[in-house]
Parts: sequence; C-alpha cells; structure tokens
Amino acid sequence: MTLPYAEPLVALEPQPRVIPEPLRLGEPDGAPCGLCDWLADFEQSEHDAPLWYDDNWALCRASGVTIPGVVWLTSRSHHDSFADLPDKLAQSYGPVVGRVERAILGLGDIARVHVYRWGDGNAHFHVWFYPRPLGMLEAKREMLAVWANVLPEAPEEVVADAEAKIAAAMAETD
Ligand SMILES: [Zn+2]
Repeated sequence: MTLPYAEPLVALEPQPRVIPEPLRLGEPDGAPCGLCDWLADFEQSEHDAPLWYDDNWALCRASGVTIPGVVWLTSRSHHDSFADLPDKLAQSYGPVVGRVERAILGLGDIARVHVYRWGDGNAHFHVWFYPRPLGMLEAKREMLAVWANVLPEAPEEVVADAEAKIAAAMAETD
C-alpha cells in the first residue's frame, strides 16, 4: 500500500476535538435531507433516475468519478446507520450488496470491490462501492479511497459505460 504522495510526509498532531459536532444534513434538528427529496421525486421526473432501484434500495451514480464503476447504494427511506435500519431493510442489505458486488465485478479487471459506510456526510443511510483495479496493489485497503481522490476524472463515456453495465446486471437479477 502506498500513499499517492511523495515522501517525506510529515505526521500531524490530531486537532482539538470539536464537541458537540456540527449537525449533518438530515439529522434531527439539522438541515433537511436532500436525499429524501430526490428519492421521493425521481420516479416522476424520469431524468436523474438511479441506476437501479426496488422498494427498499436505490443504486446511484457518483459525480467526479476517477475509477469507473464507483457507485453508491442508499435506502429509499430515511435511517441513519445500520443500528437504525428496520429488520426488513437490514435483512435485504446483504443480498442487495452481493448483487451490486457481482455487477461491479462483471466489469472485469477488478481485484476487489470495497464497501465503505462512512456516515460523516448526509445522515441518510448509504454505502459506497469502490472497485479496486486489478493489479493496483498500491491502492489496497484504505489507500483506494485516497487514490480515488487524487486520480484524474475518468472520461465521461467510460464512466457511463461502466454504470450502464452495472445497471444491466442489476436488472438481469431482478
Ligand atoms: Zn433522508
């Protein structure tokens, strides 16, 4: 694993803690959840629709993609984290993540599909899928997210092609 920066890097001291933390979007008493607004509307609007969805989940495009095949999955209803998911959603999570992983692996030349649940942005449950390109050993584990932040944006048509293939693979297993 290698950081995408030249040595020597200088280790920083942790910053003073900020407590209480700023409210995230969609938190109780926080700003409204834009994700809820979009999820309520997309079936009417016909554009900007998710790549795939069912009653529980929506699989979505990312913006500024540097690694084709990066997508994110969100619950259709507003819950914060795994700890808050109703049983029905929690039980359908494993199967849907497996389907998304298989769809991404189907793109080819992918060593592993990383699944990240950060939870530090919007308080509406979502997980990120990052395909680690086959042979990109410097981007193992947490380094993939760092590399993805500094690589140049991938060509629009290459990203769209990967997204279309993932959408088609999801539709095939509906
Ligand atoms: Zn929401």
